[in-house]
Amino acid sequence: MTEMSEKTCLARALSATLPTPSTPSSKGCAWKEARVLVINTGGTIGMKIHDGVLSPEANALVNFLKSLPIMHDEQYAQDTKLYERYAPADNTMVLPLSKQEQRVVYTVIEYSPLLDSSNMSTKDWAKIAEDIEEYYEEYDGFVILHGTDTMAYTASALSFLCEHLGKPVILTGSQIPIFEMRNDGRANLLGALLIAGQYMIPEVCLYFHFKLYRGNRVTKVDAESFNAFTSPNLEPLANAEGDIKINWDTVLKADTCAKFRVNSELNRNVGLLRLFPGITTETVRAFLQPPMAGVVLETYGSGNAPDSRTDLLAELTKATDRGVIIINCTQCLTGTVVMTYATGKALVDAGLISGGDMTPEAALSKLSYVLAKDISLQDKKELLKSNLRGELTANIQGACLSDSRFIQLIAQFLSISCKEELEAIRNALTPTLACAAAKIGDIKALEAIREMGGNLSMEGNDGRTPLHIATCEGHLKVVEYLLSQGANVYAKDSYGDTPLRCAVRFRRKDVVRLLRKTGAHLSPSEVQGVGTEMCSYAAQSDIEGLEIWALAGMDPNLPGYDGKTPLEVASAAGNQRVMDFFQNLKDLVV
Ligand code: ASP
Repeated sequence: MTEMSEKTCLARALSATLPTPSTPSSKGCAWKEARVLVINTGGTIGMKIHDGVLSPEANALVNFLKSLPIMHDEQYAQDTKLYERYAPADNTMVLPLSKQEQRVVYTVIEYSPLLDSSNMSTKDWAKIAEDIEEYYEEYDGFVILHGTDTMAYTASALSFLCEHLGKPVILTGSQIPIFEMRNDGRANLLGALLIAGQYMIPEVCLYFHFKLYRGNRVTKVDAESFNAFTSPNLEPLANAEGDIKINWDTVLKADTCAKFRVNSELNRNVGLLRLFPGITTETVRAFLQPPMAGVVLETYGSGNAPDSRTDLLAELTKATDRGVIIINCTQCLTGTVVMTYATGKALVDAGLISGGDMTPEAALSKLSYVLAKDISLQDKKELLKSNLRGELTANIQGACLSDSRFIQLIAQFLSISCKEELEAIRNALTPTLACAAAKIGDIKALEAIREMGGNLSMEGNDGRTPLHIATCEGHLKVVEYLLSQGANVYAKDSYGDTPLRCAVRFRRKDVVRLLRKTGAHLSPSEVQGVGTEMCSYAAQSDIEGLEIWALAGMDPNLPGYDGKTPLEVASAAGNQRVMDFFQNLKDLVV
């Protein structure tokens, strides 16, 4: 176990023994805190000049951040005993109160050595992914500090390695070190932390210069400007130039029907080959030699190559016949590969598969991820052609909004016909309608809302999502349906409760079981005080209460505020039924 995870376990134990915080927020509930893990891998953001050139400076970032009032509120930390509640205390900080009246508590772990991202390899991608997996349940979101040079590659790779991701993972860095007076590091880190802590965006993203992008859609386009990245074929997921505005229509739906896991196997025998006029047959042949297993061929325009070069096409054909997978990606920044020209068809005939509008960075890391899988060549090709994590624009013909009878009637009534107005009506109405349908368990109504393009994960007026409501009501089928439609099990309502916490509160056993199966777990703030609550159930012989917490994944040995475990409380009270319950607990939870 690493030093960090020992400390995290200590934090868990500590937080269980402390009484639930009682300082009220403006909404009259307990502290509204989100926890973010910052993994510092290196990059300019944490560099200083050594021997006249920039290179990473170890063990400097945390103390520096602590000295900046916009990055750390020491008063709040002292007043709320933050360092006792969260560990490791030395590396944990808290942002000032956000506009959403939330505190983002963040802990920084630093890799050793810190890397200029030009030195990164596939092993480093796997390490980051595995660390996210290790700490997944402890944090609400993740920020990865990374050099800008290869950030687009790492962001793409992580998007594939993280399977069934339900929480935000945001890469950021800077063009100028954070230690300098004028820099972009502070704004980038602050923006990434606020988004990772406050918005359940279930994607690997990249945040830079006030924009949040899908990680596998970006490319670095400027070596100097603060505006270093672009996402040529997909609009940003969020804009934080003024208030943070999330573009929920573009954000991927969560895929939390199964538990989050990391698949860090990668095939390193992949490469990028850029066509240029006059490229020699020898170059192409040498490049495609074994052990090369997959190549991204960067072609001209809409995916074209010289069809007059039979020598070149013959080399490509020989390679695909041997089982080398070659993806056709365009050298253009925007646009997609389509078979418009004879020069494009020649590549299809040579056995290449279309990369659509994928960036070369995304195509390369996808190849590396897919080729490591133990499946047939044909299945690998199918996976590469399909849209796995929003990395390519799939040709989905959805029902048109104006097809909806309901919207038609409203549009008629209000005498409107333009698309933007129809969308505005839909976006205003559907969250409330979806919550109402979830309350009464009406799956047909939810389906109708989904068909008109309504987002079933949006929160209604009281800050609860349809999933929160269906779990409170115990509508198991609706919960199943919502999960299948991408409802996020980690969404928090305005009191900071996840659907699992709601299901526990209303003692919906079936729903708790189902949510746990999909990987749902209680957030760090929800776990605080549970030991005390279980002890009081043990004292009152409330077996059902104990059972529901055990089903929700709580350790039945969590101590209460006085350090006694629920079992100790039961045996002190001579409460045999409760002691029997603990005896049989294993069978219950399996
Ligand atoms: N060379 C640096 C890196 O990629 C550049 C940066 O971070 O902006 O690590």
